[in-house]
Amino acid sequence: MQQLADMLNKMDGKSYKSLKSIQGHYDNELLRLSVDYVQGDPFAAPSKLRVFIPLHRTDFHLEQFQSPERRRAFKHFFAKTFHQVTHKTDNPVSGTGKSGMIYIDAPGQEVLDRTAVNISSAGIEFRLSCGLPAKGRSVLGKGAAKLLTEIIPDVAKKTIETYSREALKQALLLADDQTFIRREIKDRSLISFIADGAVLPRESGISNKPLPEKNVVPFKSPDSYRTTLQLPSGKTLSGMGIPKGISLIIGGGYHGKSTLLHAIERGVYNHEPGDGREFVLSDESAVKIRSEDGRSVTDVNISPFINDLPFGKDTLAFSSEDASGSTSQAANIVEAIEMRTRMLLIDEDTSATNFMIRDARMQKLVKKDKEPITPFIDRVRGLYDTHGISTVLVLGGSGDYFEAADHVIMMDEYEPEDKTAEAKALTEQFATQRVFEADGAFTVTEPRAFSKQRIKKWFDQKEKVESKGRQSIRIGKTNISLSHVEQLVDPSQTEAIARMIKLLAKNNNTPKTMINAIDDLYEQVEENGLDSLGVFRNQHPGDLALPRKYELAAALNRLRP
Ligand code: ADP
Ligand code: MG
Repeated sequence: MQQLADMLNKMDGKSYKSLKSIQGHYDNELLRLSVDYVQGDPFAAPSKLRVFIPLHRTDFHLEQFQSPERRRAFKHFFAKTFHQVTHKTDNPVSGTGKSGMIYIDAPGQEVLDRTAVNISSAGIEFRLSCGLPAKGRSVLGKGAAKLLTEIIPDVAKKTIETYSREALKQALLLADDQTFIRREIKDRSLISFIADGAVLPRESGISNKPLPEKNVVPFKSPDSYRTTLQLPSGKTLSGMGIPKGISLIIGGGYHGKSTLLHAIERGVYNHEPGDGREFVLSDESAVKIRSEDGRSVTDVNISPFINDLPFGKDTLAFSSEDASGSTSQAANIVEAIEMRTRMLLIDEDTSATNFMIRDARMQKLVKKDKEPITPFIDRVRGLYDTHGISTVLVLGGSGDYFEAADHVIMMDEYEPEDKTAEAKALTEQFATQRVFEADGAFTVTEPRAFSKQRIKKWFDQKEKVESKGRQSIRIGKTNISLSHVEQLVDPSQTEAIARMIKLLAKNNNTPKTMINAIDDLYEQVEENGLDSLGVFRNQHPGDLALPRKYELAAALNRLRP
């Protein structure tokens, strides 16, 4: 480490380019600092470092990170702790551009597998970015030495020494409990569990933080859906278990329907302690479905929902660069089924009305042969009865779904009530007089072929693939917009998707179908770790978080031709 300090001190005032020579490994009595990449200038993408501390220098125990869920929670905890310590540590290093910056890819409230921290029986490693200091374009040698050989090692040391043992313990116990609840959900034929006392609403439309407690009506299950669990941590937890089948969430406007659905949709991920939704867990294959007019669709068989489009446009292999509300919603469903989802989540707020319902009067006036759409109401039952795909549907505006529903839950001032019996009684009392419009069973179509050509087109020109925040990926000059892919929650997931697309295009074996291609890739990642998506072996892998297969597929499905 002293050697690095000497080198940097000597470089003071020299051109920034000379910093490249510090790439390499440096040790002190506690840790090893690896300088993997040095930025080209003080404004460019920051330098990439790793700090490794051997396990015997920490007070960690193997059982704290043996199961995959614990390991994920452990890494999450230390990425967050490192971030907090960075901000509490006095850092006088400054200069031009990013000079003095210390960055770790700190997570949000979703506990995702991420590369920011690695833990193994060898030790813990922090993956950092930093801005090597400059004045104009010449090296600030003293500042650089201070940053790399004092401040960063100090932050790492403080992180592993001063972290809250109690908070770590709680995070790991929570991970165990969440794993247990996920298993119970499966064993009890549920699709989602929402604990009593959970805080579902968020602080605002642009914040993922919980709404302050004093303004919240905590979740409380109706008696008929109450499920009680004995958790491994010793806690007894009760809450609403949503059974498989078709569940309607009804209720007046502003009574908390969408908030409940959002929580269910995020329940595919584990949340950290204090989020309010740490005990809201859903089937991990749940996919939020919405209409998304303007999206690009390629070769999707939407014929179960849409037929006989004007000008004889094909719906067995429907393609559009500018899909409509209903065709985009149909494509989203068919694509989710192709990826083997077991659960669809739909909100009236983000659905195309003509896709969801078609009432008796409209059926009389606009005859079936003039309406290309078979509404979801006539498909939802078949999806479950024939294919075992459950649906949770938020719908305040139409009682026509009462026939199709297995469960009707009414939100009343943020409290759910079981209205199934009343809803069913009403179907006897007021016949809808609708005509069932689906002809034939819902047939799940063959998985589509994997079109490497389509991805490859962009790479033959050696074009870059990179994420731009959470919502978009740039491939060369084209943009994939993921703004309506609501279960993609972290920009580092988007970056991982960008890397995965690149790998799919490069892969030499030729998988037959898109789902084969995705499965193969995930198998690879599972075997070699998320780090394997990094460009250089045994170096800083970049800031990545693991997305679900559904979100990778969503990106591929939105590629424009
Ligand atoms: P709906 O979909 O039924 O129209 P929303 O779910 O959009 O209603 O909720 C309306 C408002 O109420 C939102 O601002 C939301 O944050 C808030 N809200 C939702 N659930 C709760 C709750 N349990 N306690 C307090 N406020 C809530
Ligand atoms: Mg709503």
